[in-house]
Amino acid sequence: MQHFPIFLAVAGRRVTVSGGGETAIAKLRLLLKTEARITVFAADPAPEIVRWAADGRLTLVRRAMRAGDAICARLHYAADDDAAEDRRTAALAAAEGALVNIVDNLEDSAFITPAIVDRDPVTVAIGTEGAAPVLARAIKADLEARLPHGLGILARLGKAFRPRAEALPQGRARRDFWADFYFGAGPRALDESGEAGVEPALEALLAGHATARPREAHVAFVGAGPGDPELLTLKARRALDEADVVIHDRLITPAILELARREAVLVDAGKEGFGPSTSQADINALIVAHARDGAQVVRLKSGDATVFGRLDEEIETCLAHGIAYSIVPGITAASAAVAAIGQSLTKRTRNSSVRLLTGHDMQGFAEHDWRTLARTGEVAAIYMGKKSARFIQGRLLMHGADPQTPVTIVENASRPDQRILHTRLADLEPDLGRAGMTGPALVLYGLAPRAVEALAPELSTTEVAL
Ligand code: SAH
Repeated sequence: MQHFPIFLAVAGRRVTVSGGGETAIAKLRLLLKTEARITVFAADPAPEIVRWAADGRLTLVRRAMRAGDAICARLHYAADDDAAEDRRTAALAAAEGALVNIVDNLEDSAFITPAIVDRDPVTVAIGTEGAAPVLARAIKADLEARLPHGLGILARLGKAFRPRAEALPQGRARRDFWADFYFGAGPRALDESGEAGVEPALEALLAGHATARPREAHVAFVGAGPGDPELLTLKARRALDEADVVIHDRLITPAILELARREAVLVDAGKEGFGPSTSQADINALIVAHARDGAQVVRLKSGDATVFGRLDEEIETCLAHGIAYSIVPGITAASAAVAAIGQSLTKRTRNSSVRLLTGHDMQGFAEHDWRTLARTGEVAAIYMGKKSARFIQGRLLMHGADPQTPVTIVENASRPDQRILHTRLADLEPDLGRAGMTGPALVLYGLAPRAVEALAPELSTTEVAL
């Protein structure tokens, strides 16, 4: 170990920075998280630095650094992006007793700044002695994902609550209490009611643990996104980490199910428009049966649970049985599909609204406001539209839609087997399923892939490799 990690007391101490550009700003963003008294020397400071100075967050001296400027400074950052100037300010500050860092110059620096995960007062510093900044960033991202955002607040409030928790027997009981607090009840309370909700949550949790009552059942309706596990939200990841039971749709990919806690029970509650399925009543019953045992149930739905997910029926089931629930939003298929073709769902010069439609509903093919949709420039994201392509096409043409309106079908959006088929309304395959589309597919009406639009606007039906 060539560098020894320590946490330096900087509250009320001076830290100097020489430089007024991007490099200085990057360091200042970190330094401003501390309680240090910061002085910046820059003849030509960036507006951001000027603003920080105006807000009283640092002292700005609008000239190059001189001898005497670093007196009493604990740390000095030479951040002028100019080797000669950096050497000069570093020498000045070192002579005046400061520890000196020359940004991006490991060799001539007395200390280096680690990658930081900030959950004040919990701070994680990651260093690789300059060997692999990429690795440090990856570790940081991993920890960021794992540590709840309010962890700092929780740690502060938890510390004050320590004497109370001593009411619990030492060992397992106390550990379980704190684990429940930091990774369950605490973040949830913070989320729902802010800092003020944490203390009551601690009290309630302590009361619960003291009487060793079984945990309160909870159902989290979690959006799993379109299939790529990297498109899961951090909250979805955490819910999967904590789940006792995961009741999932057929569209949930194995890669996502892998992320569930190893001990979790996985229940396939697949429901397919026209195929073998678990009825909604059965799914509701499953949720109740599992939640009754005090389990933490994750009801995992593809995309966003609030979009064509029959979420309300399941929520009403929870309400009817007095089961607590929460909703974790996810990335809906329409977002993933437009991302795949390099387009926006809305565009100033084209459409100021976008419709999310379903191809079929409980009654069969779903009726919509076809007249409005048939107007030039309209955009719709059609879910469950594989079998209803002919119906949709017929309705739109009947209401005067331009037969040349672009239509793009994105199958398996965000997954390794993603396919993009670009066509025109007039040429739309009547049954996309029969035409070989076996995966979930989203029909984007009124949108062509950006590449096609730009390079070959006259193209008719094509499979697009993007
Ligand atoms: N709640 C989901 C939609 C469920 S309805 C969401 O927000 O995305 C199921 C329909 O979603 C499928 O028939 C298909 O039209 C669409 N869909 C879901 N995942 C998809 C994917 N990866 N690629 C394309 N379409 C998808």
